[in-house]
Amino acid sequence: MLPPDDTIVAIATPLGRSAIGVVRLSGADASRIASTLLGGLQLRPRLASYGQVMVSPSDQEETATGGVRDEAIAVWFPSPRSYTGEDVVEISAHGNPLLLEGIVRQAIVRGARLARPGEFTLRAVIHGKRTVVEAEAVADVIEASTLPQARLAFDQLHGTLSSQVASIDAEAFDLVARLEASLDFPDEGYHFTQPAESVAALTQLVDGIDSLLRDASRGRLIRDGATVVIAGRPNVGKSRLFNVLLGGARAIVTDVPGTTRDMLTERVELGGVLVTLADTAGVRDSNDAVEQVGIGLSRRAMQTADLVVTVLDGSLGMTDDDARLVAEVPEIRRLLVVNKCDLPAAQERSLPPGSVAVSALTGDGVDALRWRIGSRLLDQAGTAIDAPRISNVRHVAVLTGARQALVRARDLANEAAPEEIVLRELHTARSRFDELIGARTSEDVLNRIFERFCIGK
Ligand code: GDP
Repeated sequence: MLPPDDTIVAIATPLGRSAIGVVRLSGADASRIASTLLGGLQLRPRLASYGQVMVSPSDQEETATGGVRDEAIAVWFPSPRSYTGEDVVEISAHGNPLLLEGIVRQAIVRGARLARPGEFTLRAVIHGKRTVVEAEAVADVIEASTLPQARLAFDQLHGTLSSQVASIDAEAFDLVARLEASLDFPDEGYHFTQPAESVAALTQLVDGIDSLLRDASRGRLIRDGATVVIAGRPNVGKSRLFNVLLGGARAIVTDVPGTTRDMLTERVELGGVLVTLADTAGVRDSNDAVEQVGIGLSRRAMQTADLVVTVLDGSLGMTDDDARLVAEVPEIRRLLVVNKCDLPAAQERSLPPGSVAVSALTGDGVDALRWRIGSRLLDQAGTAIDAPRISNVRHVAVLTGARQALVRARDLANEAAPEEIVLRELHTARSRFDELIGARTSEDVLNRIFERFCIGK
């Protein structure tokens, strides 16, 4: 993609009233435009300059009204040491949408163009300031709704995944060089790499990708969240527990699409994991047609959930119906909760092993339950907490494609196939790596990635 030659402008902070709002310019003309907006103020590299900025919607209006101005601080980041790699100026004014839009219009009158969504970050990619993976992480950092999500995105922003892929790619390049040397000097009487060496090198490459892919499920869990279903017989306190779990925690989104009258769902953070929590209809034998529909939904939700929280009434202990319901879900995906532990009858009974005691009425044990749910989900996804993770479906698909090509290359090398054929597969793998870390990402892919951004990022 050719480097752009125009200067873009956009408001970089959310629209709404706030103490400060920032307008950002990027491109060859950024400092000239900003300086004229600020009445000829001399901008100094990476230092804050104070001035008055013009906010009249147009020059005619400026003349007619005598002009509207705001106080502003401008910082100039000369190319290439800026976010985009181009000349960038950030103008901080008061956070009033009318004023900020006025500054943008004035910049446009002076030759800037309104930025498209994600265009600042796209320019950072074009100028080699960020890899594509890092650019995608910018959107994830901005959108994160739990701290682990933000941390995952931050790691990717700082190139954890990019540098791992780059080191696998460097090993692949080393093998390519040896195979190509063998092709270029066929008469030397020996080859620069023996098939067995190539097989060993390719096995190492495949292992490297496998270890990245193994961490993907945990990354996806943190990024996209998990589904947790509350199940149990009628009247054990499911609905009350559902509300209590939501109540003390921060409900992030309400009305998740697909909500039915029989199954309430809410998005909530539990123990650091973003969870879609579902309250199901009580499961029991029933002849009532409407209730049967609800029970069918509950069973299906239990089959597909990442974790099923099965609730018992502690004052009654585990009934045969409870035991049957518990047995419907494999142990790895279930968590037993004994509710109503405030009742004297419950306190006299011993807890089933591995269960959590709560009272949805008094709130006792509910915080502990939140953390238990979060840690169970993270354990299930496996891997150490500090392992680099892949959170993005696109990254998984690209790496899987590279792996397939490397496995084919290994099979071919194993059969002592000619170098050209092994090389073809290696080049395929390397072009997949390039989609993640290189500057040769196709325009289609870039467009799809930057659709997610908002203007000003
Ligand atoms: P569901 O049918 O499983 O959703 O159960 P509900 O949440 O509707 O609760 C059934 C009954 O048990 C209601 O009368 C609740 O007030 C009561 N209940 C729920 N949780 C507790 C609890 O922790 N302690 C006590 N004592 N009563 C509870």
